[in-house]
Amino acid sequence: MFKNFKSVNKCAYGRGSFAKLGEIISEKRHENQGYFLFLVDDYFQDKEEFKARIPAESNDVVEFIYTSGDEPKTSQIDELRDRFLSQKGLPAGVIGIGGGSIMDIAKALSLMFTNEGSSVQYQGLNLIKKPGIYHVGVPTISGTGAEVSMTAVLTGPTKKLGLKCDWTVFDQIVLDPDLIASVPRNEWFYTGMDTYIHCVESMNGRLKNTFSEAYGYKAIELCKDVYINEGYGQTAINDEKLMVASYFGGLSLTYSEVGVCHALSYGLSYVFGTRHCFANCVIFPHLGEYYPEGVKEFNEMVEKNNIFIPKNLSKDWTDAEIEKMIDVCWALTHMWKHAIGDDWEQKLTRQKLKELYLKM
Ligand code: NAD
Ligand code: ZN
Repeated sequence: MFKNFKSVNKCAYGRGSFAKLGEIISEKRHENQGYFLFLVDDYFQDKEEFKARIPAESNDVVEFIYTSGDEPKTSQIDELRDRFLSQKGLPAGVIGIGGGSIMDIAKALSLMFTNEGSSVQYQGLNLIKKPGIYHVGVPTISGTGAEVSMTAVLTGPTKKLGLKCDWTVFDQIVLDPDLIASVPRNEWFYTGMDTYIHCVESMNGRLKNTFSEAYGYKAIELCKDVYINEGYGQTAINDEKLMVASYFGGLSLTYSEVGVCHALSYGLSYVFGTRHCFANCVIFPHLGEYYPEGVKEFNEMVEKNNIFIPKNLSKDWTDAEIEKMIDVCWALTHMWKHAIGDDWEQKLTRQKLKELYLKM
C-alpha cells in the first residue's frame, strides 16, 4: 500500500494556547480583502468571557453557527460563500472554532471561496481544482479527528461525502485542552468514542500498518485512561489526553481506513440524519463478531460512565428505509475492502447487513 499524505502545516498545543491565536494569524491578516472570518460554534454565543477572547479586529466577522441539529450541508457552505463574497469579498482566512461540524465547515468554506460553482460538484476525492484560502482549526470538542483529516464531510442532495484533497487540510491548528472542559457528558462520550472506534477499525483490517498502529495504540491507551481509569470531569489532564487521542486517532485513520462501524454508520446518518458520533455508538456494541476486544472495552466504558445508548431503534424502521441504508453502506467499497478483504462481495451479503441493522 502506498499513501502520500499532506499533514497540518502547523500545530500549537497546550493549555492557554488559544490566547496566542491572534498572534499566530497576524502574518496573514493583510491578504485578500484583509479580514478574517471566524466561524464559531453557537454554544459560545452567550459566553461573554470566551467571546472577548476571540482575537477579532474591527474589520473581521464573527459568525456563530448552530451545530446541534443537522450535520453540515453543501447548501450551507454555498450560502456562506456567496454571502461573504458579495458582502465583503475574499477573506484573508477562515478560522473555525468548534467541533467536527465547525472544522468541516471551515475546511469546506476555505476551498469553496476559490472554486466556482456548488460544493456538490466537489464531493469526492481530488475533485477540487484550486487551493483554498488560509484556514485554521481550533477544536472545542475532541474525538472526530476532523482537526487533522484531509476531508470536509458534507451532506449533499444525493450523498454524504467529503471534499477530500490535500488542500482540505488545515494550515494551522490550535489545540487548547481548556476549550473542551465545558463539553456535556454525553457529547464528551459519543465524540470521544469516535476516535476510539477510528483506532479499532484502522488497526483491524487489510490496510493496517506500523504507522497507523503506533498512533492507534497510543490513542486507545489515552482513551482508556480517560474513559475507564478516570471518567467525566475527573481531572483536567483528561482533557489534555482526549485532545491528543483525537489527533492521533485521525492520523491512525489517515494511514489506514475505517471499517464496519463507519460503513453502517454512514447508512444510518444518511437515512435518518443521525449524528455521526452518536450513530457509531448505537452500532458499535453489535459488532462483536468483527471487533471482539474493542466491543468488550467499549461496553465497559459505557457502563463506567453511565452513558445511555438506545436499543431497539430498528423496530420503527420500514423495509424501504433499511434497504436505503444498505444501499449507502454497500457502496462504501473502500471500507469493506479494508475490513473484510478484496473478496468482500463474496463474504458479505445484503441480508447480513440487514441483520446487523435489525440488531440496533
Ligand atoms: P459537533 O461539532 O457536531 O458538536 C456537537 C455538540 O457539542 C454541539 O451541540 C456543539 O454546540 C457542542 N459543543 C462543541 N464544543 C463545545 C464546548 N466546548 N462546550 C459545550 N458544548 C460544545 O461535534 P463533533 O462530534 O465534534 O462533530 C461531528 C461532526 O464531525 C459530524 O458532522 C461528522 O460528520 C463530522 N466528522 C468529520 C470528520 C472529518 O474527518 N472531517 C470525521 C468524523 C466526523
Ligand atoms: Zn468517525
